Amino acid sequence: MTKRILLAAPRGFCAGVERAIEIVERAIEKFGPPVYVRHEIVHNRHVVQGLRDQGAVFIDELEEAPSGSNVIFSAHGVPESVFSAAAERGLNVIDAACPLVKKVHFAVKRHATQQRLVVLIGHKGHPEVVGTMGQLPEGSVILVGTPEEARTVSLPEGRQFAYTTQTTLSVDETREIIEALRERIPEISGPAKGDLCYATTNRQSAVRGMAPEVDVLLVIGSRSSSNTSRLRELGEKLGIASYLLDQADEADPAWFAEATTIGITSGASAPESLVQGLVERIQQLHPGSVVDTWAGIAENVHFPLPRELA
Ligand code: SF4
Repeated sequence: MTKRILLAAPRGFCAGVERAIEIVERAIEKFGPPVYVRHEIVHNRHVVQGLRDQGAVFIDELEEAPSGSNVIFSAHGVPESVFSAAAERGLNVIDAACPLVKKVHFAVKRHATQQRLVVLIGHKGHPEVVGTMGQLPEGSVILVGTPEEARTVSLPEGRQFAYTTQTTLSVDETREIIEALRERIPEISGPAKGDLCYATTNRQSAVRGMAPEVDVLLVIGSRSSSNTSRLRELGEKLGIASYLLDQADEADPAWFAEATTIGITSGASAPESLVQGLVERIQQLHPGSVVDTWAGIAENVHFPLPRELA
């Protein structure tokens, strides 16, 4: 049975991921291998392996990088303490944190300077959340992850509050959490829709737009990627059987055996080659399947490289 394959647009790499990958590649070119990268530069094992093949060495702790070596920090941003630790070890740091994450870091610091207590909306343990919380001394940011937590978290009396958000959350859930906070603290400061980035918002909006035409949704990306997981959850919430897969050979043909239209999207850290591999696999299983695009918001965002690599 032939299928219609409907590709979401926009999908895949965002400007922050493109920039982070280019930083690692240029650093290897400029300094020669090895270049150390603290944590996964972006949450995708294909990207990480590709950079490893070029000479990047991924480390968990700064102690693994010899003094004087070049160390790149990931796109998710790091706590202030990591910069201090790198300086103490005499490491040459290149920060690949996405400028949109840095914007959240500046906001957190500004609120603290203005004596506002910061409530961060985000997922506990995610590297971006660890980095954002680490802009202020330990214990001075309140983290909430769900509307329920926003309704019940203990908030000190007599303080002014502000909220910021992780950049890669669900648009709908973030709105609910902000509403719950505003019910408790009507004067709380913060951006109306949170700090969700354009890539997160646009990829979710494309899934929402294509949903009425789609019988099953396949999302390419890694489980550790927050924005990717939110795309699969959104598909499910819209009533479509939705699957997250790292690469084409993980697709179970039974998922789409009965489908007329198969929707495909990919997270902001997933290379387009993986999407094309999935399209080819479906076409092999269902010869004659046609490919269409559901075109949402056109993106034209580009972030400059750090000066030392530009
Ligand atoms: S998903 Fe958004 S915040 Fe994260 S790297 Fe991409 S543009 Fe930046």
